[in-house]
Amino acid sequence: MHQPTPIDAIIFDLDGTVYLGDAALPGAVEAIAELRRRGKRTLFVSNKPLEPRGVYAAKLTRLGIPTREEEVITSAYVLGRHLAGSAPHLRLYVIGEENLRAELRGHGLTVLDELDGQNPQDVMDPTGIDAVVVALDRTLDYRKLNTAYQALRAGAHFFATNPDSTCPMPGGDIPDAGATIAYLEHLTGREVELLAGKPSPLTVQVAMAELQVEPSRCLMVGDRLETDIRMGREAGMVTAVVLTGVSSRKDALHAAQPADWIVEGLGELLALTQ
Ligand SMILES: [Mg+2]
Repeated sequence: MHQPTPIDAIIFDLDGTVYLGDAALPGAVEAIAELRRRGKRTLFVSNKPLEPRGVYAAKLTRLGIPTREEEVITSAYVLGRHLAGSAPHLRLYVIGEENLRAELRGHGLTVLDELDGQNPQDVMDPTGIDAVVVALDRTLDYRKLNTAYQALRAGAHFFATNPDSTCPMPGGDIPDAGATIAYLEHLTGREVELLAGKPSPLTVQVAMAELQVEPSRCLMVGDRLETDIRMGREAGMVTAVVLTGVSSRKDALHAAQPADWIVEGLGELLALTQ
């Protein structure tokens, strides 16, 4: 039996790790309460840019995990915070939903409005766009893709909230930003320059600023190997993949970048950490 690993803080992914749809995963509420009782700081990180941080905090609180807005990080929040600090004057063309536009504007950034009119070939002047931001957008259409294409071809920066190809939703996965990024990369021969969400180091920076702990004493817990676990490993954190979401035990065992621990549920973390 291994000695429990000393941990000061734990970063949890949300979908597939803490909850699925509107229900907490078995044992999650009790495990997080006990870890907090033992003095662990907790932070919740989602790549979904669809809701403000406060909505996720309220959902966790409703499910029995009392959470403040400051304990939640989304890819939209990370992108807004990063651009506000590094390139606040860029005029942004956003393929994304209203929450992302509001989040970016809330950081003082300039988000261009869509053109009026119905002609799918009408696009705004690409020279008025300094950067294209790609995110999950359930109202994606030809005109948005064409506008982004023309702007990228004219030299605009190419940013995205997150690289996931699908997004878990109640009722099943839906296409996420990764597919739109691939479409535009294919068209332009360019590569996305900046990703904000997991596994980006930008998310790690925001998380560590919030938690104020050494990465080696921080545990990253998530269900997705290529985002959650990869980010934790690259940051020097201890990592745990939980089998309640997208990854099977076989995936976890055969991963190119495996997690330190494979757990069936969050309850197993109680014996692994001290
Ligand atoms: Mg997940």
